[in-house]
Amino acid sequence: MNGKENETGKQGDDQIRVVGHEHESNPKKDASWAQIAERHDRFLKVFGNNREAVLDGSSPMSQVFSEHTVGVNDILVVGCIDERCGHQGAGYHLGLGGAGILVPKAQQQAYVTYIIDTAVNKGVNTIRIYAHQGCGAARLSMGAGDHASGAVDKRAQWFTSELAKKVKAELTNKGVLDVGVVDGYLSSDEMLTPQDFHNAVGAIVDLTGDFDPTRKKEKEGLDFPPFFNVNGIFDYDHAMANIGVALNIAFGDHGFGSTRFNADRPFVITLFHNEEETPAESVSKLDQTVSDFVTTHQENTGTDLKDSIVIKILKRPTKNNEKEERSTVERSALKLVKQVLSDAPKVEALKRAVQKYTLDVDSEFSDIGSVISSQNTQVFTQHHGVGYMLWGEIVSMMERNEDVNFENLSEEKLTNLISRAYSNAGTSGF
Ligand SMILES: [Zn+2]
Repeated sequence: MNGKENETGKQGDDQIRVVGHEHESNPKKDASWAQIAERHDRFLKVFGNNREAVLDGSSPMSQVFSEHTVGVNDILVVGCIDERCGHQGAGYHLGLGGAGILVPKAQQQAYVTYIIDTAVNKGVNTIRIYAHQGCGAARLSMGAGDHASGAVDKRAQWFTSELAKKVKAELTNKGVLDVGVVDGYLSSDEMLTPQDFHNAVGAIVDLTGDFDPTRKKEKEGLDFPPFFNVNGIFDYDHAMANIGVALNIAFGDHGFGSTRFNADRPFVITLFHNEEETPAESVSKLDQTVSDFVTTHQENTGTDLKDSIVIKILKRPTKNNEKEERSTVERSALKLVKQVLSDAPKVEALKRAVQKYTLDVDSEFSDIGSVISSQNTQVFTQHHGVGYMLWGEIVSMMERNEDVNFENLSEEKLTNLISRAYSNAGTSGF
């Protein structure tokens, strides 16, 4: 819901209120529903009538998982489950209601640690934490009662900026100097359309940690319908509570409501997982969450949604081995580069080595500074700084099985490395 409208409008904007007996004919919603129909049907077709499926690795849909590329996808987005927010840059996406605003106080520290562990394990260099306008989760976090939209928006922003501070402080405590943290805020007009209601026709519960809602928009044939995006790894019970919120929104007056979804075009909750076996406990909790919602909804409104919600269990395709191997090399190489860049004498040696190849040492090294405490993931690629070239060179060395030992890296070796990096960069069109 657009916060600005609420300031002046009189109707309540409780995003999760369940409204029964919805007889509204809403032309905007009807048009959106019709516009999404084809994508909605196509997505459901992937499964046929099956509840479970293994995603075909050759299917374009298998590309919705982030394949980390240093300098390109090295961002972890921590944001809301809201289907209109999933466009915060390619990379890894950790979706929880209000970016985690509903995580209980006692679990907040564990949440911060989870964010950091995820960023470090994925090898990203930027954590982007953002809030958005008109966030239903932020409103819920303020408890019952009427809350002015402005106050809700402020609280959403306050939470993400505090979270960013905590994440930064803990990164520093842990000596992780190469991951930057930024926090941001999306106003309604920066969110995906529509601005005044939720058009999600499903939800993703991501147990892979790699689902990337931006990729579906980049890749041809991947035009998913709008889905809520819920991280299932941090705390599965919390994820299920988020699914409860999503269902209340979708079937309430801020979503498509309870009359449009049906057996032919149901709200589809997809659990993505990596396991060989079906993750039985997660599936059964999801079944329970949905059945609780259906029961409560029927008690409150008299409408039976049993056939209007389906659960699909989708196993991600096995990763390509060759890619996996390369990615491991890339990651180890990046670790080495970070090691060099966090060692002051080596950085000095690097500066001397680079001096031979460029007239503008300071600007090159401001890039290194950006790599170390990156505020912007693009810096790495756009300015192809020294760190990036070094990384490329180390990857090549590792691929040639050359010994790479940075513990005893002499200035002479560094100079040679930089020399090769510069000449390779010259020939590869950097
Ligand atoms: Zn939200």
